[in-house]
Amino acid sequence: MELSSYHTHTKLCKHANGMPLDYLQEAKDFLQKENHTCLGFGFSDHCPYPNDGTDNWPEVRMTPEEAPNYIKTVREASKTVDFPVLAGFECEWDSVYKSWYKDFLLGELGADYLVLGSHWIPHEKERLYLPNEAKNTKLFIKWANLTLEALDSGFFKIFAHPDLCFGGGLVWSKETESAFTDILSLCKDKNIPIEVNGYGILKNQITDDKGILRYQYPYEDFWHFAKSFGVKVVCNSDAHHPEDALYGAFLALEYANKLGIEPISHLH
Ligand SMILES: [Zn+2]
Ligand SMILES: [Zn+2]
Repeated sequence: MELSSYHTHTKLCKHANGMPLDYLQEAKDFLQKENHTCLGFGFSDHCPYPNDGTDNWPEVRMTPEEAPNYIKTVREASKTVDFPVLAGFECEWDSVYKSWYKDFLLGELGADYLVLGSHWIPHEKERLYLPNEAKNTKLFIKWANLTLEALDSGFFKIFAHPDLCFGGGLVWSKETESAFTDILSLCKDKNIPIEVNGYGILKNQITDDKGILRYQYPYEDFWHFAKSFGVKVVCNSDAHHPEDALYGAFLALEYANKLGIEPISHLH
């Protein structure tokens, strides 16, 4: 099979292990063992945010000081493989950080791309974790609007786990259909691929509000709906362990194929 994955973490995010070289070594071994090819591979560790006193979940990300070396480590490791390797970041959205995304992450650090990981809902002084709050319609709509603003910003090359909101047991409804009509239309207009996330396939399954045992995500009702929009789809690992570097993307691709979805094979 032809595989690619543009969603990879490293131990710098404090809940993954391995450094870029470890992921690329495992990717190489996997390709050889399974007789697959890789058309593109990207690191997208959770981005740092400025130390401005806002609680941007520093416990799951590198510091701004660590970021230059992260990019450098990816560039060096990329020399050990014969497929293209990109250095990027996975970011949440907050419009106050426009210049941070553009001038620091993409500009000064020279990141190749940014992935939108719309994990949070800003609420009062907190940032709430989406899957835990998505059953609250008001908060869900707030998340959808924030996500639309992010996708419209022009900074993001991929929309990661668009169905993360279903991870806490939320099920398909009129509200989700209406929100995703707007979100998927915008992805199509802006030519932003949405991601089938392999990490979700590897996580513990849940019993949802309808009593169905299923993946937290990918969420099937979402993908049936998304299929009809003709939005580009990308299959990524979201690897947090080196041995999943391309294995997750392989699982994601199997999942997409089963639903009759034909993903793009690489980003360039
Ligand atoms: Zn992570
Ligand atoms: Zn991720």
